[in-house]
Amino acid sequence: MKKIAILGSTGSIGTQTLDIIDNSNDYQVTALAAHSNFKLLEEQIRKFKPGMAALFNEEAAKELRIRTRDTNVKILGGEEGVNRLASECGADTVLTAMVGSAGIMPTLNAISAGCNIALANKETMVCAGEIVSDLAERKNVKIIPVDSEHSAIFQCIGNHKSYLKNIILTASGGPFFGRCAQELKSVTLQDALKHPNWSMGSKITIDSATLMNKGLEVIEAVKLFDISPDSIKVLVHRQSIIHSMVEFCDNSVLAQLGNPDMRVPISYALSYPERKENPSAPLKYESLKSLSFEEPDLDTFKGLALGFYAAREGGTMPTVYSSANEAAVELFISGKCTFLEISSLVEFAMKNHKKVIKPTLKCIIDTDNKIRQFVKSLV
Ligand code: NDP
Ligand code: MG
Repeated sequence: MKKIAILGSTGSIGTQTLDIIDNSNDYQVTALAAHSNFKLLEEQIRKFKPGMAALFNEEAAKELRIRTRDTNVKILGGEEGVNRLASECGADTVLTAMVGSAGIMPTLNAISAGCNIALANKETMVCAGEIVSDLAERKNVKIIPVDSEHSAIFQCIGNHKSYLKNIILTASGGPFFGRCAQELKSVTLQDALKHPNWSMGSKITIDSATLMNKGLEVIEAVKLFDISPDSIKVLVHRQSIIHSMVEFCDNSVLAQLGNPDMRVPISYALSYPERKENPSAPLKYESLKSLSFEEPDLDTFKGLALGFYAAREGGTMPTVYSSANEAAVELFISGKCTFLEISSLVEFAMKNHKKVIKPTLKCIIDTDNKIRQFVKSLV
């Protein structure tokens, strides 16, 4: 059985991963970590019996320790606890499904310990992609993308990387596709949380509405596949059936298709290089009336244009883009800024940043902290 650890086990990706594991005899859970949801983590511990678990929130970790006294699980707490769990989980593959740059250190720790990474936590790749890739190469571990677009690209490239010409990254367009800036002035948090095709955690759902998610994914693709941002084209594909495409030097194009169900790319990342059955439903071709493609509106959805800019700039600019966005989304969720202000805050933070070209890990982490504080101080 393959040993799996999940960072962010109580979230959207984490629970879907456990659904796959629950319906299979191929995997054994060695460790689970989350932020503060001790109730769900307790249920998961009782069901999947990992050797260790961690909660980032110290108080929640104390509560979990009390609740699981009758089991053999070792409970760790705090940032230090999550980092230690990543180092000591003993997994073949660590699935990283926490939100935001909080994933950087645990991901690096898991790689240092020799674990393959099933990467959902895109912000880590956006901020510290070069460091992650270098370490993975030195440790001879694989980074297998979970993000549906990147899983599609990874599957389509196969062993033809040297022939790759362009990546066509598909985007659903989110709940506000087709609207102009004037129409977006008064949209609410509830409006932004209504994604047409995918059910996901709140941060990525807001990112899908601003198209910041697609900007993050452009940078994620640049860093995962070592390709120029000029070779990446974003197309709005409202049906979310084609998860992305690759174009080779001979103009042959390969696409990966499937229902919008994250259990397909999660399953592939867990079973890679094999493929396994999983609880997802097969695609019903007769219900596919049409597959359409449109250009994204980069003027209204500035977040995507800023993502391309950050990708071309490189250095610390992707960190600024991602961290300013994380802070701005928090402000939007807590009612402290409007929907359109999210991209304005990110743009302002990027304009005020003096880029460091080849940042160290410390520089990336310092930039992340500074930018979050800066954005919060603006509101
Ligand atoms: P959710 O908000 O649903 O879940 C986040 C999970 O991370 C929760 O388990 C949460 O714990 C945990 N967590 C948060 N902070 C920490 C921390 N510091 N240490 C440990 N655990 C932490 O998010 P999603 O599952 O939607 O997204 C996870 C990642 O995957 C994101 O980077 C997202 O961009 C990416 N992704 C998600 C997709 C999706 O379909 N959901 C698709 C593609 C990528 P708690 O419950 O206790 O708060
Ligand atoms: Mg995606």
